[in-house]
Amino acid sequence: MKQNPFTSAITLLEKAAKIMGLSADLLKILSVPERTIQVSLPFKKDSGELEMIDGYRVQYNNWRGPYKGGLRYHPEVDMDEVKALAFWMMIKNAVCDVPFGGGKGGIEVDPKSLSKAELERLTRSFAKELTPNIGPEVDVPAPDVNTNGQIMEWFGDEYVKEVKSQKAKVKNEYTENQLRAVVTGKPLGKGGSEGREEATGRGGLFVTEQLVEKMGLRRPLTVAVQGFGNVGAHMAALLQEKGYKIIALSDSKGGIYSEKGIDVKEVEVFKKMGGSIPDYASKRSSGKAISNEELLELPVDILVPAALEGVINKENASKIQAKVVVEMANGPITPEADEILNKKGIVVVPDVLANSGGVTVSYFEWYQNMNNESWTKDEVNKKLKEKMVAAFEEVWKIKEEKDVDLRTAAYILALQRISKTAPK
Ligand code: NAD
Repeated sequence: MKQNPFTSAITLLEKAAKIMGLSADLLKILSVPERTIQVSLPFKKDSGELEMIDGYRVQYNNWRGPYKGGLRYHPEVDMDEVKALAFWMMIKNAVCDVPFGGGKGGIEVDPKSLSKAELERLTRSFAKELTPNIGPEVDVPAPDVNTNGQIMEWFGDEYVKEVKSQKAKVKNEYTENQLRAVVTGKPLGKGGSEGREEATGRGGLFVTEQLVEKMGLRRPLTVAVQGFGNVGAHMAALLQEKGYKIIALSDSKGGIYSEKGIDVKEVEVFKKMGGSIPDYASKRSSGKAISNEELLELPVDILVPAALEGVINKENASKIQAKVVVEMANGPITPEADEILNKKGIVVVPDVLANSGGVTVSYFEWYQNMNNESWTKDEVNKKLKEKMVAAFEEVWKIKEEKDVDLRTAAYILALQRISKTAPK
């Protein structure tokens, strides 16, 4: 049975709070979200039939700045999942030190079952319902699983329309560019930032490079990546460019393993043409098809879970053979599994640090919109590297000082920063 992700999140909070001596009152406040919003979305299908679909937005905490976090479209989205994801955003935004609080949202739907027109109508319906509760300085959504720049563009466009028509009672003294800062992860030319598309994967690369350096791992290093979406595909490609040997990849249909290494760019092209990774494996003589479970248990140097949460759990944790796990998905390791990996001496770079490159560049996008600036890709990547290296070094310092694992160290860093901004 899938573990409740919000319970897992709070277990981690309590552990870090105890070690750092967080006050009992702050622990109570931070153990629950400030606001949970559930909306029923009237959604017209192409057939003309009307369906009501559940949508969620959780505004966890805003002491450090506007609520910030992605929108997930998935049939298994529910309030507990969204609460956990919003909590992690609060921690993550503090770890990477961007001036945002934590939020997250989602719609309980399988977007693959919708036509493009249906997806647009559903997204606009969601934006309309959420308009009174969001805004560039209130709550700023972004892409997550199964959402992308196009969806953010529709969402932002609907919000701007609602505000302009003055149906929404929100502060209305922004320029249009500033209003577009209500969402990040927008396409280039529509208020998006250079470098946002691959930012999460690139941030993962910077963190991995820091860790390899600290641990003195000898190159070339082998890597297995689970999930080949925005995060997994970019991370795999960037690691390969830096000389890491990618020996396994997967998507929701299954994976491929090749001891000789896999050409990530070739897989990307194949996927863009509509193929799956197992299809790619069956067409390739030097690789073999493997399951997602087998991929996780490979004896690699670096394992990168970049799909969904809870994939490393108490059932399979003892079988993990990687030296390092870089958590690019949110919450891919359950707390029980985390203990098992720690005991085995496997170093885990936690999600709240490893995948914070996305929200860091989301912040750059938001900043550019709000200040009418436009940065080059080189500027974005340089600033991203500075932020990721600084976050990694701070976390590493706490790990050494307090003799704790990297996850606990990241939580302690975040809680120190959040508690400094607590209202008196
Ligand atoms: P995506 O929708 O672009 O890709 C998800 C990938 O996972 C796809 O390749 C899909 O086939 C695969 N997948 C789905 N179910 C699977 C399963 N059961 N087993 C194996 N693979 C499966 O999503 P994404 O944006 O790449 O997000 C991936 C993870 O990274 C999520 O946990 C998300 O919360 C997290 N994340 C994303 C961002 C971002 O900027 N996109 C930032 C931080 C964290």
